[in-house]
Amino acid sequence: MRAAVFSQPGQPMSVDELALPEPGRGEIRLKVAACGVCHTDLHVLKGEVAFPTPAVLGHEVSGVVDAVGPNVDGAAPGDRVACSFIMPCGACGYCVRGREDLCETFFAYNRLKGQLYDGSTRLYRPNGEPVAMYSMGGLAEYAVTPATSVFPLPESVPLNDAAIIGCSIFTAYGAVRNQADVRPGQSVAVFAVGGVGTQVLQMARAFGASPVIAVDIRGDKLEKALEMGATAVVNGAEEDAPARVRELTGGRGVDVAVEALGSPVTARQAFESVRDGGKVVLIGIAAAGVEVPLEITRFVRRGVTVVGSYGAKARSDMPEVIELARRGAVDVSAPITRRYALDEVNDAYAALAAGEIVGRAVIEME
Ligand SMILES: [Zn+2]
Ligand SMILES: [Zn+2]
Repeated sequence: MRAAVFSQPGQPMSVDELALPEPGRGEIRLKVAACGVCHTDLHVLKGEVAFPTPAVLGHEVSGVVDAVGPNVDGAAPGDRVACSFIMPCGACGYCVRGREDLCETFFAYNRLKGQLYDGSTRLYRPNGEPVAMYSMGGLAEYAVTPATSVFPLPESVPLNDAAIIGCSIFTAYGAVRNQADVRPGQSVAVFAVGGVGTQVLQMARAFGASPVIAVDIRGDKLEKALEMGATAVVNGAEEDAPARVRELTGGRGVDVAVEALGSPVTARQAFESVRDGGKVVLIGIAAAGVEVPLEITRFVRRGVTVVGSYGAKARSDMPEVIELARRGAVDVSAPITRRYALDEVNDAYAALAAGEIVGRAVIEME
């Protein structure tokens, strides 16, 4: 099969021939339909987040089940599916307590070593050299993933577009539903409306938030934000964003501010934009070591909560996220503004790095 292989930070990926991956116990092989182009991959490509090489990145995928390993129930070849980027082991202390977003086996084996949970990868070059997997290694024609990360799609949800459910929409759900617990009528501001921030707007709208304020420094992204659920937009390059957010909420600030970039500048703006007793949810990943200074007295005196949110809980949340897509409360197609072939994978990540992608881009395998 063909796969985009990452060999060295700062160097382009090369589309190489790899052996067809074999699913192990409790695992599924899927024929990948599409894979989303996500900023988290970009951190690895730039060397800002350490990861073993060679590796296949790509963690936001949809496809058709092609083969199942032993001990897999409820999935069969031919099923149309979307996969969560967190592949819960189902057995660690966090998974047992329902916190699959914190699965320690996933972090220890996959995020640190590029392996699945028997301590090996499923990807090999034809000469037998192992190739690490970032999540399931979705930038390839086929991918093997634990069945705990595989979820059936209703007929009405388009297969290729459903790829973006597995990271950006899933992450937006985790932030809005689990960590912020947004209620109808609450005000939400989203700082940076790129691939994930756009989905937070949709999710906030789906849960009845109003107003929903999009903050970004690019006019094209703010224009798209109005289409994706924002009721007001603020250009942070032209105005004082926290001051404008307060103005839009009767001088008080928003109930919930979501930071989707992983930048100290926007994280501070989010902190300064919430009302007394408000909540800041951080979902943007930054390069290792990046910090944000926050005013202690405001934290204390104003009772502000700052909470991190990573993905969501795969097995309990993915079915709900897919149901939102089936009902049309969340649109999987409208956020996708660019479609690339696997051979164009480097162009896609270059455009993402340049900030040119409005909404989400996907790599389509056919
Ligand atoms: Zn992602
Ligand atoms: Zn686990």
